[in-house]
Amino acid sequence: MRFISTRGESPAVSFSTAVEEGLAPDGGLYLPESLPDIRPHLDDWEKLPYPELCAQFISLFATDIDIEQLRIMTVGAYSDFDDPRIAPLRRLDRKTHLLELFHGPTLAFKDFALQLLGKLYANQIQRTGRTISVLGATSGDTGAAAIHGLLGCAGVHTFILYPDGRVSPLQERQMACTGAVEVFPLAIEGSFDDAQTALKEVFSDTEFAKEVGLSAVNSINLARILAQCVYYLYAWFQLSESERRDCIFVVPTGNFGNVLAGWLVRKMGLPVSGFRVATNQNDILHRLFQTGAYEVGAVTPSLAPSMDIQIASNFERFLYYQLEGNGREVRKVMQKLRISGRHQFTTLATHGFTSSSADDRDIPKLIKNVFDQFGVVIDPHTACAFKDRGDTHEVILATAHPAKFPETILKVLGSEPTHPILEVLKERPIVKHSVKPTPDAIKAFMRHALC
Ligand SMILES: *Cc1c(COP(=O)(O)O)cnc(C)c1O
Repeated sequence: MRFISTRGESPAVSFSTAVEEGLAPDGGLYLPESLPDIRPHLDDWEKLPYPELCAQFISLFATDIDIEQLRIMTVGAYSDFDDPRIAPLRRLDRKTHLLELFHGPTLAFKDFALQLLGKLYANQIQRTGRTISVLGATSGDTGAAAIHGLLGCAGVHTFILYPDGRVSPLQERQMACTGAVEVFPLAIEGSFDDAQTALKEVFSDTEFAKEVGLSAVNSINLARILAQCVYYLYAWFQLSESERRDCIFVVPTGNFGNVLAGWLVRKMGLPVSGFRVATNQNDILHRLFQTGAYEVGAVTPSLAPSMDIQIASNFERFLYYQLEGNGREVRKVMQKLRISGRHQFTTLATHGFTSSSADDRDIPKLIKNVFDQFGVVIDPHTACAFKDRGDTHEVILATAHPAKFPETILKVLGSEPTHPILEVLKERPIVKHSVKPTPDAIKAFMRHALC
């Protein structure tokens, strides 16, 4: 299988190259040249344990990697999860399931993708003998998940920029208390945007990039999307025949990555009715599905910070299918969005999407309601999914463990949820490095750390 760019101006590449490059050379995002039909596999896949299901699904795409190799990677990737089912599906009532995606090492769904990405990187390094320096910027969860996905991966140094004092204390601990010598949390004076700007400049210095073997971890890597497809399948297999036919998945959404993965599985033939895109008060995607207008606004910080996003980077992949694979049209729309921040879709075929939006007044109420009704504590991101529920059977994706957001839960429910992993972190020393958000300061730090 080959992978093409959404913008149509890069050569088709192998799976390994698409994973290694992340972003295509023409600035587009990689997608499979054509989507496989998974219907013939569904019977065989139904009873598989999670890592084996993942290996078999990924093998449809990673045709340049031996399936035995993939098996070793997927078993390794999901060995640090604290539930043997990896993605347990919990029934709340007759028409509601909760898909728990927070059993990985950093207690959020991003572990599903980044644990596997770490194994894919390790495999690549073993094959090529080239060591790499991963550089990323984070406002919280992604940085922690990336650091833990790459932990212990020989030949990788990880540098994660984050705005000092603007990530939650627990998120900082997840990055800065690993004790690993090849991990460098860089606390910068400034905002997330300052970090992002400096990072882009470091990447544009091609000589430096070569010198240190620079590589990005970001939300647009194709491997992340494919890894996320697997839990939709796994959840669907656990439903009854009648639930399978008319269920929808409800997905707390920021960058559109998670829900895109589910939508792609549906395009590959999984018979589910649709998806509800659940946003917080940063509701660009909700407005899109209500009005057809994609309009970038200002980000307002919310109680569900990992969804505080106004430019959904994975949206370009959806756009590609909307525009029937016309790379030129994708380039035009993306260009227009960059300049004017707005695009009106005249024929937005919604393809099974509905949407909802929960603001900061809703979130505490939703957490309280769910606790009163089901006796279950949910985190502020998952809470957004409980807004505007319909009558169909819903599988609600629980994207983070509530113990990651103790302040909000304490206020609403009067007690603080805990998790043993986080309790251990609180005992450990924080090791972080203060760096100015300039490309020169970052490069100097990296050179020094690598020698
Ligand atoms: C990243 C994140 C989201 C949003 O996921 P996207 O793929 O960006 O849509 C939702 N909830 C939590 C807890 C997250 O960390």
